[in-house]
Amino acid sequence: MRCRDIVRELADYLDEALDPMLRASIEEHLCKCEDCRIVVDTTKQTIDIFCNSEPAPLPQTTRQRLHEALAKRLRRARPGASPQA
Ligand SMILES: [Zn+2]
Repeated sequence: MRCRDIVRELADYLDEALDPMLRASIEEHLCKCEDCRIVVDTTKQTIDIFCNSEPAPLPQTTRQRLHEALAKRLRRARPGASPQA
């Protein structure tokens, strides 16, 4: 098992969708290879943060800005404007 094999199996490994043999090989490699351990840890943390975060409500200012941007865009694209040749 080499580093690039770890990367290739990483998603399944974190999903716990790997067969036990493959999983054991990865864990064995992780014991010996700090680089891969860091990659696995970082990816795992990223996934945890992503999965656990509640969808944040849009702040009022962001909502307002989004509204204005959309309105501006709609005005520019209104029907009857001269078409670009
Ligand atoms: Zn490695």
